[in-house]
Formats: sequence, structure tokens, C-alpha cells
Amino acid sequence: MSNTIKADRFARAAEPDKRLRIARRTSLGDEVYETLLAQLVSLRIPPNARISVDALVRELGVSQTPIRAALIRLENEGLVVKTHNVGYSAAPMPSRDKFEQIYDLRLLLEPYAAEQACQKLGDVARGELAELALAMTEPEPEDAERAYGKFALHDAKFHALIATQSGNLLVAEALARSYAHSHLFRLRYHAAATEGAVEEHAKIISAMAAADPSGAHAAMEEHIVRSRARWRPYFVE
Ligand SMILES: [Zn+2]
Repeated sequence: MSNTIKADRFARAAEPDKRLRIARRTSLGDEVYETLLAQLVSLRIPPNARISVDALVRELGVSQTPIRAALIRLENEGLVVKTHNVGYSAAPMPSRDKFEQIYDLRLLLEPYAAEQACQKLGDVARGELAELALAMTEPEPEDAERAYGKFALHDAKFHALIATQSGNLLVAEALARSYAHSHLFRLRYHAAATEGAVEEHAKIISAMAAADPSGAHAAMEEHIVRSRARWRPYFVE
């Protein structure tokens, strides 16, 4: 597969999502963070591209302060890197080794998180999970990249919600970091992504609905193993 970044196509995928805007929290810092995150995840800001604070000030119409705060947060999550005398740029694509490490970590933590969440899940979170899973099954009439951009964001929220519902904040934080890395490659190779994931998510949801922690553990494990197998061919290094 060509490594050329199809900037134009991904730029379309990166158009602001109105539903995300509506769902936004009130803080300006959060808004700026989510805007930049969406641009990175959709590769509108491609890997290794420089990120100019001044350009963002003009583009977003906000001061430097929330932009710098958002960049520090994204740096902590591994999505941007800061280089001395150069400034910020988008993180590079993960290597094959990094890919394997991300999935090792997910495989260790996510089945555990699903099992724990299954025992602690409140009605609100249960409803949110079902909504996210449903959103991922909705057919998108738009072009594939844009549709996958939405799928990827919903999928990330789905997994993050299960991680936080585990009640173990350290597990949730470690996974949040790993998702940040995986976003960067997932959107690029979107074609392989959604197949199977929808069914696998449904199994996780139904184990949770049945209050079956070991079933939730097994369903999440199966999802991560299969997801890994779907993506591995793209990391031939
Ligand atoms: Zn998933």
C-alpha cells in the first residue's frame, strides 16, 4: 500500500462534525483540544506535519493560551511531539513494534476493564455504550473516509467508556494513551476496520446486559485479538 498521504481526501474527512460540536463541554480548552484531536485523528494534520500555534490562533479565532494548553495535553497523550527550536508537530506513524506493543497492552488491560465494568456499570453508562454501539452500525451515505472517521471516534469513546467504568483510573489512563497512538494508523487504513467490529461490540454489549463479567472478558478479548489480526497486515515493516 502506498504511504502517500492523500491530504485532500482526508481533509474532507476532517470537516467539523456538527454532532460533536453539540456534544461539546463548555470549556474553551476542551473545545480547542477536541478540534485539534479531530484534525489529528482524521489526518487533516498528517503524521510529522508541523503545527503552528500562530496559524491555529487565526484558524480557530482563539488566543494562544487554550491552544498551548491543548497541545500540552496532546503531547502527554503521544499525539503530538515538541521539538526544541522547531515547536509542535503531529506524532509520526507508529512502527510495527509499536503496533504490537499497543495491542499487547490492550490485550492485557481491556478484557480486565470489560469484566470490571460489567460489575460496576450504571444505567447511564449502559445506555451510552448501547448508543455508541448503535451509532457504529448506522449506515453512512457519505464517503468512506468520513464515515470511518466517525466510526473511529465512536469506537474510541466506546472503549474509553468501558475503561473508565472499570473503576481503575490508571488502567483508563494507560489505555487512553494507547488509543491516541492507534488513532493515527486506524484512520489511514479505514477500509479494513469496521468489518467484524460491529458484531464483536454487540457481543460485549450483550454480555454486559446479561451481567456476565467473564462473558464480557471473553468478548473483549476476542475483539482485541481480531482487531489485531485485521490491522497487522498493514505493518509489514
Ligand atoms: Zn472496538
